[in-house]
Amino acid sequence: MKPWFTATTPPSNVYTVRRPLSDTELQNVRERIHGDASGPHELVEAVVTAVFDALLSGHGRTYRDHRDDPLFDRNRYAIPISQWTAIVTTIVDRAYTWGAATSTGMNLAALLPAGYDDPAVPTPLLNPIEDQPHLVRLDISRDAAATVAACQQHLVELADAYGTESDHYRNAAASWSLQLTHLISVPPGAHRVLHPDGPLSLYVSTNDASHYGVAFEPIARHCIVAGCHAVAVADGQWQPSRPDATVLDHEHQPSYPADGPQPGRWTTRP
Ligand SMILES: [Zn+2]
Repeated sequence: MKPWFTATTPPSNVYTVRRPLSDTELQNVRERIHGDASGPHELVEAVVTAVFDALLSGHGRTYRDHRDDPLFDRNRYAIPISQWTAIVTTIVDRAYTWGAATSTGMNLAALLPAGYDDPAVPTPLLNPIEDQPHLVRLDISRDAAATVAACQQHLVELADAYGTESDHYRNAAASWSLQLTHLISVPPGAHRVLHPDGPLSLYVSTNDASHYGVAFEPIARHCIVAGCHAVAVADGQWQPSRPDATVLDHEHQPSYPADGPQPGRWTTRP
């Protein structure tokens, strides 16, 4: 995410401390960003403290000595814009998990030291420790969202036609629920994109080559009379479910009406 916050840049002669954060100091900031802050306020406080503690250390002071001092001028301290931007960007991403990206970015920008331009200072990598992201990515194309809605609607139709206690509804609903759970149980670092793949089926592409399909498999209409293994085919005809299956000579009792919603279940396809 690009920050929409920018550092203040006062004239260069007014600084008390103006230098890049060292690798060790950046590592400390990074650990604060991805630590166990309980919310955006604590996160901002921890990171601002780490940055100012670093800049003040040469003066034998800490942020605690100054944070409540109304005369403390944060803009007399500065770090390179590249470091400033990386810190803000990473924290805004982190705060996004609390739904507080904008307010956190604004608070942070007001509390951090100023920034100064130094093209020689590279943008530091402040990615999560052990690369465990705080968010999993699941993108759903507009067409796929319509397919998901159609699947939900199909469940409603099954419930209306056969009842919520019916196997037709319960098996379909259970399989759909399982697929949704699987979909959001994304491994760390994975990014999945959901695409439509037929009226009631989806295709899931990923950044780790584990692509798969979520396909609706219809259950054939069959005769429910014990000992009869007839299945319905087109035009109201019936045929044995297997070449050697027994089919009784009677009026077959279909497992669901020909004009009813199609029972089935969602399965995972490689
Ligand atoms: Zn039959």
